[in-house]
Amino acid sequence: IKNIAVLTSGGDAPGMNAGIRAVVRTGIYNNLNVFGVRRGYDGLVKGEIVPMDAKSVANIIQRGGTILKTARSEEFKSYEGRKQAYENIKKLGIDALIVIGGDGTFTGASKFIEEFDVPILGMPGTIDNDLAGTDFTIGYDTAINTVVDAVDKIRDTAESHDRVFVIEVMGRDSGLIALRSGISTGAEAVLIPELNVDYDAIMKRLDKSRKNKSSRIIIVAEGDKEGGEVVADKIKENFPHYDVRLSILGHIQRGGRPSCMDRVLASRLGVASVEGLLEGRRGEMAGLICGQVQFTPFNKAIKHIDKINENLTRIVEILSL
Ligand code: ATP
Repeated sequence: IKNIAVLTSGGDAPGMNAGIRAVVRTGIYNNLNVFGVRRGYDGLVKGEIVPMDAKSVANIIQRGGTILKTARSEEFKSYEGRKQAYENIKKLGIDALIVIGGDGTFTGASKFIEEFDVPILGMPGTIDNDLAGTDFTIGYDTAINTVVDAVDKIRDTAESHDRVFVIEVMGRDSGLIALRSGISTGAEAVLIPELNVDYDAIMKRLDKSRKNKSSRIIIVAEGDKEGGEVVADKIKENFPHYDVRLSILGHIQRGGRPSCMDRVLASRLGVASVEGLLEGRRGEMAGLICGQVQFTPFNKAIKHIDKINENLTRIVEILSL
């Protein structure tokens, strides 16, 4: 392997820049030529591939988003699109790729390897933490800290006005953002797509909780079967005397300076990915499990294994007295 390329794909996540920086600099350290592909697989299909040097990734470790930009590419989903992508990388002599993204990104990478025999390794870049093969994905720690900061602020208002706030947080298929941010903000209840909502239990809990509580926070994952609006309406119906408000946090959860944890995670996995390629690895995602770098085949990493820890769901209930 002499020439490698790195790309970011799917939704952006804080820490992707730290990952790009780590790949570029580890490549150079190992005497490789490193290219950057702009706008994910779309740039691979359209040939938007630029050489990177050590300076091109200076002063980016602290920036959210991705300097290479990211996109969703319909063309890459077709064989013709992937063939075009292969011709573009061959023209530049690129012999291996590192892709930073989520399950869609790894599914696309698996097809590309199968059809064109290109070595590819992946790094988990998604705020949702919904990949197997790593305890945490790049971007998750920053996102939950952003949520915690926002909920703390909402709690001040809720407390001052004796209000109930239903707060919808990101997580289309996964309640991991909701669960951890719920525990760390002292939420009275957390609703997530992995678990069926027991409304009766929640209403009883709200009713039985300390009568003198002046604020109540319910965190709802966006992928919950009903969503924040319906939950807020149901609470209003049950407790007409409560002043119930809905707040949807939205895209603020994606952006911002990556946390120290995300920068270190991305840096470690970037180094591991380049070294993994040089050792002959392919078709795997680099992840961190119990503090150790481990490689997991793409087809296992994308399985939405249930990362919801029952102890965490129990904690919400126990501590909301
Ligand atoms: P996030 O978790 O942030 O959504 P993701 O990697 O899952 O990240 P997707 O938009 O699902 O994001 O996938 C990224 C890109 O991967 C798609 O735009 C597409 O180009 C490619 N891709 C996804 N699924 C496939 C597939 N079945 N075959 C080929 N390519 C695919």
